[in-house]
Amino acid sequence: MLSEHSLDNLKGVGPKQLEKLHKLGLFVVQDLLFHLPLRYQDKTKLTALENACLGSEVLMEGEIFSQALTRGRRNSLLVKIQSPQGAFLTLRFFHFHYRQAQQFTRGKTLRVFGEVRSGPNGLEMVHPSYEFVNTETPPELENTLTPIYPTTEGLGQVSLLKLVQQAMSLLKQYPLVELLPNNLLDSLQLPDLNSALFTLHQPQPDDDLLEIKQFSHPAQQRLIVEELITQQAALQLLRQTEQKRLAPALPASQMANALLKSLPFALTDAQQRVLQEIQQDLLKPYPMQRLVQGDVGSGKTVIAALAAIQAAEAGYQVAIMAPTEILAEQHLNAFLEWLEPLGVTVAWLNGRMKAAEKRFQLAQIESGEAKIVIGTHALFQDSVTFNRLGLVVIDEQHRFGVHQRLALHEKGQNQDHHPHQLVMTATPIPRTLAMTAYGDLDLSIIDELPPGRKPIDTAVLSNEKRSSVMEHLYVKCKQGVQAYWVCPLIEESELLHAQAAEVTATQFTDHWPDLRVGLIHGRLKGEQKALVMNAFKDHELDLLVATTVIEVGVNVPNSSLMIIENAERLGLAQLHQLRGRVGRGDLQSHCVLLYQPPLSETGKARLNIMRDTTDGFRIAEEDLKIRGPGEILGTKQTGGLQFRIADLKRDSHWIPIAQHWAKTLVENDTQIVTDLQERWVGHKVDYQHA
Ligand code: ADP
Ligand code: MG
Repeated sequence: MLSEHSLDNLKGVGPKQLEKLHKLGLFVVQDLLFHLPLRYQDKTKLTALENACLGSEVLMEGEIFSQALTRGRRNSLLVKIQSPQGAFLTLRFFHFHYRQAQQFTRGKTLRVFGEVRSGPNGLEMVHPSYEFVNTETPPELENTLTPIYPTTEGLGQVSLLKLVQQAMSLLKQYPLVELLPNNLLDSLQLPDLNSALFTLHQPQPDDDLLEIKQFSHPAQQRLIVEELITQQAALQLLRQTEQKRLAPALPASQMANALLKSLPFALTDAQQRVLQEIQQDLLKPYPMQRLVQGDVGSGKTVIAALAAIQAAEAGYQVAIMAPTEILAEQHLNAFLEWLEPLGVTVAWLNGRMKAAEKRFQLAQIESGEAKIVIGTHALFQDSVTFNRLGLVVIDEQHRFGVHQRLALHEKGQNQDHHPHQLVMTATPIPRTLAMTAYGDLDLSIIDELPPGRKPIDTAVLSNEKRSSVMEHLYVKCKQGVQAYWVCPLIEESELLHAQAAEVTATQFTDHWPDLRVGLIHGRLKGEQKALVMNAFKDHELDLLVATTVIEVGVNVPNSSLMIIENAERLGLAQLHQLRGRVGRGDLQSHCVLLYQPPLSETGKARLNIMRDTTDGFRIAEEDLKIRGPGEILGTKQTGGLQFRIADLKRDSHWIPIAQHWAKTLVENDTQIVTDLQERWVGHKVDYQHA
């Protein structure tokens, strides 16, 4: 069995290499078979210099025309090669020996392999692999594609390739069991596992090489589907386990109706629908696991309050967790306003409380006097003892990872009861991505904004207009408008980051001493932050200069102008979040995205999307296409989403299909699911034991 065949049985594997292989998560021969190529190099044909396409990785040949050393920030050796028709390509080397440079004499022919890029003098290749060619006896071309594997330092492609070759000959002797049902393979017209593995690791000259390069070959699709099914099945098992647990069944709440009546607005249809879904879940004796997605300003807080009251009325506690203290405080204010008149006690915790105050709050929580407890993740520290926790609400979920979410869940457990869980996020996540990242959760979507909101008007301007934008902002503020000026992270340093904001704030106050300017950044203490925020909220400040700390959830309805500097450096999802700080009241809001020229074509396209739409879901789809899932979910979340072959950008259309088949497997044959997991997850992430 290749799943038991240890790697040190292979030729050439000593203790040192074994260690490297383990580092890659490879322990047995089967692991090696599932260590799939990241991509392929095509050295089967020569591309003429005149046909070189930007971004393609190709094999080309040309005669050396010139060579030169350039001195600059980095010295480089430039070798120019030429085709018979007179097309040029520059080869650029940053690391080279004097001797090496001497070899590139005019008239010799070079065969090079690398990625074609655009350089200062036309097309170039940086550090191509190369060989000198005797034009009378040119070296033969490869007859098939060369797989390139993910690897680690000290383990080269060649050694890895040799190991894979050994594994493949073992595979011929001991084929792997087919785990996917025949009807699945038939209906999707996909090949069997063993032949798929052969195609991937050792593509043959008569295979469709273009398909393989693009990962659209049926053999690759088959493995992609199998991997996605495995991941979906893991999530479904997780969910099944959850549903076998007990949670308090919370009867329908009278107080929720009282709260609804006391609100100055009526819920939107979307809010009503989502509220109903939550209320239904809470009636059941097993834990709710629900994700509410709603664009910024769609009114998630009041939904959380209405869910909370159902638990409180039934005599249970509710923990409301926000990702920052600013947000926790904002929730506190809303909950105090809504729930205290109904006689519900709200406790809260923050990092800067005086000891006596903290003791008081903790006692209220422990005794059960406080029904609602608001704070950051500090809520789940050991000093906090809940009395009867019935519901956990996690706001702005994308800041927390799957593992953190599960850990919280355990902490909230008392005796054999688990609390219900409601997670809320303002980052619209494309459906397929949500199915993958949050497949263990039920999904509710608030896809409607409260009436009367005017879409934010967005302009994209070059930084050359910065001073006139400042001027305009001043005039607007004098007319009573409140504005944000956001200075995003330029350097990866909290300090420089804060300085950029400080400099901007000073520019304003120097120029217009009568402008009331506040400054907020990550280096301020929680207390200082809260002071500034509150001053802005009470309109004691006209302008808030901030770093991206204001990104999530901050609600100041009177602010209607936002300037974002260096917008080209931020992800679309993040820009959308930032922009969502305005347009929360009845005023027509404006947003100016300043960029540092020159702007690349994609850069331009991205900012134009921001200008053209305020629909968070559309923006998220575009962001997924341009930047991939990491940008949307945040790095913490994607930790659990590392695939061997599937690519959420490229393969998202398979996800619903995988989900469907995973369900069939989980229902009918959990042994298959276990085997699939051993194959694909192996020694990597294990959701079950996260
Ligand atoms: P988010 O979904 O971004 O968390 P909030 O819950 O902060 O949004 O709501 C934004 C604002 O809209 C708040 O001032 C809230 O009181 C208000 N709001 C919520 N629901 C409605 C509604 N149905 N009609 C009018 N205003 C609403
Ligand atoms: Mg919110």
